[in-house]
Amino acid sequence: MAKYTCTCCGKEHDEWPALGFIAPDDYAQLPEEKKADETYCELTHDFCTVNHPDQTDRFVRGVLFQKITDHCDTLDYGVWTSLSEKSFKDYYDNFNNPEHEAVYFGWLSNDLADYTFESCIPLNVVCAGDGKRPEFIPHESHDHPFVRDYYNGITKAEAERRIADMLAKTTHG
Ligand SMILES: [Zn+2]
Repeated sequence: MAKYTCTCCGKEHDEWPALGFIAPDDYAQLPEEKKADETYCELTHDFCTVNHPDQTDRFVRGVLFQKITDHCDTLDYGVWTSLSEKSFKDYYDNFNNPEHEAVYFGWLSNDLADYTFESCIPLNVVCAGDGKRPEFIPHESHDHPFVRDYYNGITKAEAERRIADMLAKTTHG
């Protein structure tokens, strides 16, 4: 892992990779012949749509910053959220406007490996007008281990374990 000098404490830290998902689970789980059908679904780096016979699901990619209790840095997740048709259109129409500020409502659309999700996690999807991908902020009132960890923080050891797990999966397919 690359190292960098931390502006917060002045010490040298490992540069942590983001835990990224290239697609929302709804898309990733589709059979290959469905993925190949452009009338059925579409995936880019930032947008995904899936046209079911009875409804269209829309997703965008953003970032979620997991606080670490005993470390300066955050563990960053590159994850997807669903958006309503109206929010998706607004985000899409403003995608090339770096000053776009908005807050949308969405549902987390990736099952993170370290949790069990019986129900979806509600999020605020925050476009901060900085030209970056939107930040996802779970609703604090939603009682779930993932939401509690988000607000309370996880340990540096736990973050490093999650990174190691991801790297092991990437290496072994
Ligand atoms: Zn530091």
